[in-house]
Amino acid sequence: NLTQKLTQTFKNLRGQGRLSEENISEALREVRLALLEADVALPVVKDFIGRVKAKAMGEEVTRSLTPGQVFIKIVHDELVHLMGDHNDRLDLSARPPAVILLAGLQGSGKTTTSAKLALWLQEKEKKRVLLVSTDVYRPAAMEQLAHLGRDIGVDVYPTRANERPVDIARRALEEARRRNDDVLIVDTAGRLHIDSEMMAEAQELARAVNPVELLFVVDAMTGQDAVNTAKAFDAALPLTGVILTKTDGDARGGAALSVRAVTGKPIKFLGVGEKVRKGLEPFHPERMASRILGMGDIVSLVEQVQQEVDEDQARRMADKLRKGKGFDLEDFREQLRQLDRMGGMASLMDKLPGMGELPAEVQGQLQDNKQFRRLEAIINSMTAEERRHPDIIKASRRRRIALGSGTNVPEVNRLLKQFEQMQKMLKKMGKGKGGLSRLLGMN
Ligand code: GDP
Ligand code: MG
Repeated sequence: NLTQKLTQTFKNLRGQGRLSEENISEALREVRLALLEADVALPVVKDFIGRVKAKAMGEEVTRSLTPGQVFIKIVHDELVHLMGDHNDRLDLSARPPAVILLAGLQGSGKTTTSAKLALWLQEKEKKRVLLVSTDVYRPAAMEQLAHLGRDIGVDVYPTRANERPVDIARRALEEARRRNDDVLIVDTAGRLHIDSEMMAEAQELARAVNPVELLFVVDAMTGQDAVNTAKAFDAALPLTGVILTKTDGDARGGAALSVRAVTGKPIKFLGVGEKVRKGLEPFHPERMASRILGMGDIVSLVEQVQQEVDEDQARRMADKLRKGKGFDLEDFREQLRQLDRMGGMASLMDKLPGMGELPAEVQGQLQDNKQFRRLEAIINSMTAEERRHPDIIKASRRRRIALGSGTNVPEVNRLLKQFEQMQKMLKKMGKGKGGLSRLLGMN
């Protein structure tokens, strides 16, 4: 899979501190190939590669990660971003009955998806739903929906042959209103290929029932064709979203990327099986990105490390020390916050170089989250002046700070003493190579 390939590509680069044009070009080629193999449309691929490249260039590689890991994370994040960042829910905020209209080619899965959606809304959202088919061209299509409705216990508005689709939809809407339904789902007829008659009918239906959701249903297995179909439907209809069906038959997920990119409309659900029950899932860009990359937990590892060790912060502090400016209580507080963010992560603490060199007492405190917050509270209760010049904090100020932070004077004393120790140690290690200076990102 792609993650394995990328990891392999970066194998020889381990230890390089930065991603550069040179060391990522091979990896970008792999990504490009993988996306093309996954049937992502070429312009979408090009655009994507450009964005990943721009983002990756000069990106620093955190010491506990490899360039490959950082690169994979960038690819992953861009994929997620391209697919819309988060799950877009159905918007049913209209005055009931909210109308959902499904459009798409014949065989894309509209009828099945109508039933899946009805079941979803009924079970998960506790909505009262009415289904209606406007596919008057194939009697079997109406029968199909009636049958599915019976299976899942959702009412299907009965239609007569020889009626115009628009009339059926209008009457169904009246009926839904009369019954106080929350949602009316309108299934439409499709053709095997894009044609103007089908589009005209869908447009007329949309005008007649004014849907809050006009969803384009597209078969993920149609690959490149999905892109053209999506473009045509998006141009003809005011789509509000996309449902990508038959993703159970297409492990690659390329259509999700293309369709989203060419329409700009959110993918709201995935069809994941023929069965109405369990055949529909909300679309999560995150999951689809992982699927495309085929990776395990690299991304979460990278996120963990990047979040918990705020390297910028560490570097700024290191700079300060290097320039000979004092490490003050503001810095100490910043450090506590950082360590607090790592709280509960004993395993990560072990990985941080320098931890073992801190005095045992400080180490103990740093393992203890509650203690961090108390220390932070004490520093919060100081004035900016006091934080910068701790030596002015004499007895009366200590009492005030203890009171303000809900602690007590001995605790304030202890903090100041620890701070002093830390300051001394930093001075000693300031120009050294190991230990805390490394923790602070100084080398
Ligand atoms: P329509 O012509 O757009 O209404 O499409 P249908 O709902 O009749 O579906 C066409 C075929 O695709 C049927 O055999 C469905 O069972 C099948 N189908 C629909 N959605 C899915 C899906 O998510 N996964 C799989 N495997 N089959 C699906
Ligand atoms: Mg149908």
